[in-house]
This record gives sequence, structure tokens and C-alpha cells, in this order.
Amino acid sequence: MEFAIIGAGMSGLTCAQRLTAAGHGVRLFDKGRGPGGRMSARRAEVDGETLHFDHGAQFFTAHDQRFLRQVEEWEADGVVARWPEAGSDAWVGTPAMNAPIKAMAAKADVQFGVRIEGIRAVGTGWRLVGPDAPRDLFDAVISAVPAEQVAPLLATDAPDIAALAQATVSDPCWTLMVAFDAQPNLPDTLRTEGAIGWMARNASKPGRGPAECWVVQGSPAWSREYLECDKGEVAERLLGALGRKAGGELPRVRHVDAHRWRYALCGEAGEGALWDADTRIGACGDWLRGPRVENAFLSGLELAQKVLDHG
Ligand SMILES: Cc1cc2nc3c(=O)[nH]c(=O)nc-3n(C[C@H](O)[C@H](O)[C@H](O)COP(=O)(O)OP(=O)(O)OC[C@H]3O[C@@H](n4cnc5c(N)ncnc54)[C@H](O)[C@@H]3O)c2cc1C
Repeated sequence: MEFAIIGAGMSGLTCAQRLTAAGHGVRLFDKGRGPGGRMSARRAEVDGETLHFDHGAQFFTAHDQRFLRQVEEWEADGVVARWPEAGSDAWVGTPAMNAPIKAMAAKADVQFGVRIEGIRAVGTGWRLVGPDAPRDLFDAVISAVPAEQVAPLLATDAPDIAALAQATVSDPCWTLMVAFDAQPNLPDTLRTEGAIGWMARNASKPGRGPAECWVVQGSPAWSREYLECDKGEVAERLLGALGRKAGGELPRVRHVDAHRWRYALCGEAGEGALWDADTRIGACGDWLRGPRVENAFLSGLELAQKVLDHG
């Protein structure tokens, strides 16, 4: 079959990898500018230096044997490494969090910068709808996007999937990216209560440069409270909270920015993956299993298995 997968994050690419290995044709379409999804990384040019921030997922853990096997392959390829500062089971992409996604995307047929707005039945096939959508017909369509972004795609043709996704609510996460000209008086990683949920020193991750780049995540409750605020105000507030954690003093700020993840950490629909062999519409993504990179991988894998088992 010829598959169109909407979304080239961890779940979509994993599903694509398995379907392609089984001999199916797979094309992926992603609205993002480059590979990463919620495992993205940001760059900033400051004084002739490139600063790097993992501004989405900070690290991931691997417990299921199927994911562990994949992580071992990535480790052998040099695209992930352990990050002991976050725990004995913590892994990160190297040199940036999006490295495993980049590696998978390089082996797949992915078009970035293509926003899909819906799907339309044409004869026995499916056509994608959107300003840059391809004109081609596909035998099957897979949604691999965050829960809140499923309904606009599938409400008409797969209302059950759309309804389940709509009932699965994600927490937002305001994220501060700040670079200092010296090391602040803070531990390399810290999980806290209040405005800041988590903070990490990027330089403590393997394969990063020495620049003092920090990522500070607003807690879910705080991020929801300030969701519609301007990013300048949010950056100021999170920087203030960081200063208080550092005992009132921070080194000189070289760069500061904030990013709003409206749908950061998903709820959990508990279905693993969804596939309708009659309509040939499926869905995978972390929201079907819970908010973790490992769950996104397993959902993509399980969807491919359902397709291979049930056609
Ligand atoms: C701030 C933050 C912190 C996190 N921390 C952790 C952590 O510490 N550990 C952990 O394990 N997990 C963490 N996560 C969660 C983890 O990143 C996700 O579970 C995982 O990356 C989800 O993968 P996915 O493929 O399901 O979705 P995504 O990575 O979101 O991929 C979906 C893709 O679909 C694309 N897309 C969406 N709509 C459309 C459309 N209409 N048309 C075309 N393309 C579309 C998007 O551009 C995106 O690339 C964190 C996430 C965030 C945001």
C-alpha cells in the first residue's frame, strides 16, 4: 500500500520505518521547518557564536525491550548518549535532542514545511488537503500529530479517532532559553515546585559545547496560568524565578528567549495505536500511551504491527 503519514515526529517516523521495511510505500508530511517535533532543538547566533538549546523534551528513558533495541542502535550510530545527571536511565540525542529524529528522517521520504489541513476520500483512496499538500492519491492515511491536532484532520472521516483525541487533553509548557556569560550558582538539573517545573544546564549533556545555555520549563499549572501572555513577559518572570533559585544573583545574560508549547505533555488515551482496516485510516502518537518519547516510539511501532497483521 501507499501510505501518507501526517507528522514526522518520533511516532510517525517509527511507524514509517517499520512499514517501509515491510515493503510498503510511505511518504511523510510535517508542518515543521525541520526534524524534531517535540524533540526539537533551537539555535541562536550571539557574538559570532552559535548557542544551542534543547527546548522540547529534555531527555528520555527506555524500559521496553523494543525501544531499548532501537536506543542501542542509535547509541552505536552516535546519535544518542546517556545523561547521568538526569538519572541512571536517562538518554539524550547527541549533539542535540533531535538527532535520532534527524537520523530517521534522513532515511525516510519526508517533506517538511507542509501543513495538512484535512483528508478527502477520492474513489477508494485518500487525498491530503492543504495549501502545499501533494495531489497524489494514497491507499491509507495515518495521523501522527499531537492529540489536539487530530480532530481537524479526521473529524469527518474517522470521527471515533477524532473524538478520542479531543478527549485527551495536554498540558502546556512555557520554556525559557537563557545563556549566561558564566556558570550560575545552580545544580545541573533541578525538578521543582512553583513557577519552575524543571531546569537544566545544556552544557552538562554529552556532546554539547561549553556555553552556559540553560533551559527552564514552567510547571504545567504555571504555564496554563500564563498561557496567553506575551513571551517577553514570560521570559522575565521565569528568569526572575531562576534568579531566586540561584540565591538572588545570576551572571550576565547573553541571550534570552521563550517558547510556548501549547500541547507539551499529553494525556493518555490508553489505546496504544488505532487502525481501521476498512477505511485504512490510523493514528499513532504519544497521546495514545502517555507523555513520553518511549511511548511515541511504541505507539508508532504498534500501529505498523496492526497494519501488517490486519491489512
Ligand atoms: C517541553 C516538553 C518537554 C518534554 N519532556 C519530556 C521528557 O523529559 N521525557 C520524555 O520522554 N518526553 C518528554 N516530552 C514529550 C515527548 O517530546 C513526546 O512524547 C514525543 O516527542 C511525542 O512524539 P510524537 O511523534 O507523538 O509527536 P510530535 O513530536 O509532536 O510529532 C508530531 C509532528 O506532527 C507535526 N504536525 C502537527 N500537526 C500537523 C499538520 N496539521 N500537518 C503536518 N504536520 C503536523 C508536528 O510538526 C510534529 O513534528 C516533552 C515534550 C515537551 C514539548
